[in-house]
Amino acid sequence: MFSTMQDFPLTITSIMRYGTTVYDSCEVATVTDDGVRRRSYGEVGRRVGRLANALRRLGVDGDQRVATFMWNNAEHLEAYLAVPAMGAVLHTLNIRLFPDQLIYIANHAEDEIVVVDGSLIPLLARVLREMKTVRHVIVSGPGDRAPLADSGKELHSYEDLLAAAPETFDWPEEIDERQAAAMCYTSGTTGNPKGVVYSHRSMFLHSMSVCTGNAMGMNQTDKVLPVVPMFHANAWGLPYAAVMAGAALLMPDRFLQAEPLVKAIESERPTISGAVPTIWNDVLRYAREHGSDLTSLRLVPCGGSAVPESLMRGFDELGVRILHAWGMTETSPLASAAHPPIHASGDEAWRYRMSQGRYMCGLEVRVVGDGDVVLPSDGQSVGEIEIRGAWITGAYHKDEDPGRFHDGWLRTGDVGTVSPDGFLVLTDRAKDVIKSGGEWISSVELENHLMSHPDVLEAAVIGIPDEKWAERPLATVVLRADATATAAELREFLAGRVAKWQLPERWAFISEVPKTSVGKFSKRTLRDMYAAGDLEVQQPS
Ligand code: ADP
Repeated sequence: MFSTMQDFPLTITSIMRYGTTVYDSCEVATVTDDGVRRRSYGEVGRRVGRLANALRRLGVDGDQRVATFMWNNAEHLEAYLAVPAMGAVLHTLNIRLFPDQLIYIANHAEDEIVVVDGSLIPLLARVLREMKTVRHVIVSGPGDRAPLADSGKELHSYEDLLAAAPETFDWPEEIDERQAAAMCYTSGTTGNPKGVVYSHRSMFLHSMSVCTGNAMGMNQTDKVLPVVPMFHANAWGLPYAAVMAGAALLMPDRFLQAEPLVKAIESERPTISGAVPTIWNDVLRYAREHGSDLTSLRLVPCGGSAVPESLMRGFDELGVRILHAWGMTETSPLASAAHPPIHASGDEAWRYRMSQGRYMCGLEVRVVGDGDVVLPSDGQSVGEIEIRGAWITGAYHKDEDPGRFHDGWLRTGDVGTVSPDGFLVLTDRAKDVIKSGGEWISSVELENHLMSHPDVLEAAVIGIPDEKWAERPLATVVLRADATATAAELREFLAGRVAKWQLPERWAFISEVPKTSVGKFSKRTLRDMYAAGDLEVQQPS
């Protein structure tokens, strides 16, 4: 027997203590109507102590759920740190969900307290009364509280609570690193949303992984702009990683349109910024039109859905590097990142950059085919991707759902290949795959090519029923303003790029691709629109 290392728990409490002490002068800036407001990490640390005391006074003394209904801002960061560090469970609510989903989620998680941004009061007011377990609502920032008045909940002001509470909190020493720290629900495109519960340990290890050079290499010279909401898979882990690494944070609050984002980038000069492709598409268009300077950004992690090549090349032209990354709420979320290997250059490097990336150390990935047969990771065999590891969920909250797990592996619902050197290439989500005459057609590949056409702003391809082939692709396309491309021309354009039998014969021009609550293309809505006859379908001869 050996005596080995000390058993020191990996907790958010230690991230909080470390970051707000040793990086005392590091700064979190929050975008406002007229500039930015700034707060040092040291000050955040003191306010986190006050918040924990205030929550304790409201009865939080165990693993109660404290929910947030907030934009990305300094106060949301304070809740991110205080709630898990005191041993309670942070539950980030997605402000964009439909009311009945929000009510389901808050009741399922048994949230007791909600911290809400004043600007979001009208949205919360629609659902608060139905959130049965919520007792207290804490309002942060200005906002008319009248709509909350008859909710039957006790209302508090965030700043008043903090002002009345002492700065020093007796942070628990006995936190078990495996205990729940935070939770987040998947957006539940089919069935009820499912709760994923993160442990202190999983968050700690995930944050360290985000900071490694093969992910974002985040460090104290960085300033991080998380555009991806803090209610969407922990803003991809960016806030905790920043506090751990002593990287400054620039929080966009509710100013998420291309113009204020670009202005904030130009004036505050962040070095890393994460968001889904639809946001970067808008930013690219705006930056091109206005000759904006985005070059302070050394890395733009982008994922949530496949990054179109045209977007990545467009950013390259602006001198900004997009890093394609893949993950899910269930995987904390960062699971892989697409840095090309050292030996790759030219087209080969591009192929690597366009892939979903190499999976991180601490995780294992495999491909599984029909009948649950494990296929070789040879970069050729296509099947469902399964994953396991230190920051992959092992179950859903109060919901066994054994169908999503396979011998200790999570079935991701993503279909693709894994190469011997660990790179994933996704062709589709299982629920979006198109199987035509027994052959897979990759909607992602068709979309990618279409979006590289100069006239195309957005393209989403869905499978629709077909008598002869079982399913055929239907291409829905949003043209750029003043663009004139016809379905026949786009089909011709695709013909040079994919096999003939994959070419969609049905096309629909639409004004916007419908988006999910986290800004991804909502193919389910498109399929519903098609079924309801709401798409004007053309069939070029
Ligand atoms: P939701 O299920 O609401 O979309 P998640 O953010 O958890 O919420 O979605 C995870 C899914 O997003 C993945 O399973 C995958 O289908 C998709 N996804 C994430 N990153 C990528 C990527 N880089 N390329 C393609 N698909 C991606």
